[in-house]
Amino acid sequence: MKSTESHFPKPLVIKDFTIFFPIKSVFSFLALVTFWIFLSGCESSITNIPESNATLSSTQLQTKNVVIVVIDGPRYEDTWGHPQRRYIPHFANDLAPQGIHYTNFYNKGATYTTSGHSAVTTGNYQWMSNDGSEVPNNPSVFQLWLEKNATNPKKAQIITSKEKLQVLADCVNPQWRGRFNPLTETQNRDDQLTFDKALEVFQKDQPNFVLIHFRGPDHYGHANDWDSYLNGIEETDRLTYEIWEYLQQDPFYKGTTTMLVTNDHGRHKDGVSDGFVSHGDFCEGCMHISLFAVGPDFHANRAIVDQRESVDVATTAAYLMNMDLPTGSGQVMWELFK
Ligand SMILES: [Zn+2]
Ligand SMILES: [Zn+2]
Repeated sequence: MKSTESHFPKPLVIKDFTIFFPIKSVFSFLALVTFWIFLSGCESSITNIPESNATLSSTQLQTKNVVIVVIDGPRYEDTWGHPQRRYIPHFANDLAPQGIHYTNFYNKGATYTTSGHSAVTTGNYQWMSNDGSEVPNNPSVFQLWLEKNATNPKKAQIITSKEKLQVLADCVNPQWRGRFNPLTETQNRDDQLTFDKALEVFQKDQPNFVLIHFRGPDHYGHANDWDSYLNGIEETDRLTYEIWEYLQQDPFYKGTTTMLVTNDHGRHKDGVSDGFVSHGDFCEGCMHISLFAVGPDFHANRAIVDQRESVDVATTAAYLMNMDLPTGSGQVMWELFK
């Protein structure tokens, strides 16, 4: 897909920075060296989002499987936005060099669990009941994919640590309600158990299109337990990394699988309401979330500073699975692609 490269700005060339900093003293020279070392440790970043990429067809992609991981409710400032990324060592050290993360990714809809997830799965923002009594209005990417491929429902699965997320399998739209529903494996349980179930499903059913949800940060945040909240972030960092490691050694998934990792919502910033304990409004802490993307069709070792949002995950996942998403409002994140 070399023909597409002209659509993207060249990566930042670190060496060129030296020309902007005249060396007038030993002191400024040392400052320059320090700055250089700092930059050398960073990912290159791009700043211009292409409008489209008409030359890149889904059929040219290497991706045949997409795994979406949703980590429930950490604040960006406690994950990728933490100055040392202290609580996400696997994302920061092991995964970042292989993929792309966004520094300005937002949930611009309701910052609750079911609404945040349905934005990711349907590509639409919608205020939904958060107790699992209401399904989304629009079909999910899983329903569209199962309809298009007319395949076994086991090939699209939703595996979660909250039972109420079973609502993601269906929708209100009468054309789709009760049809082409993915399998769900939804229980209120610890994330390690959800991880174990996901690996069992990968081995047993070999699904092509999967959503995995981890609850830890949200669960312990609501319990007002700061240390466990941080432990929840660390555990989901490890489990997500182990999922990617698994996919890289399973012959069915290796080299043909893309993973998109995001959040349903963040949590209040300190000073807003009860801070990290809750979420649900339009404060920066609740809306600013993360997206990390890794796969055979994507660039590696990049940070993207332009703003993208939750609904774009559905549209991009659909594109990766060789579909349009006419029922969604998101955009394909073209800047991810090589
Ligand atoms: Zn949530
Ligand atoms: Zn808030």
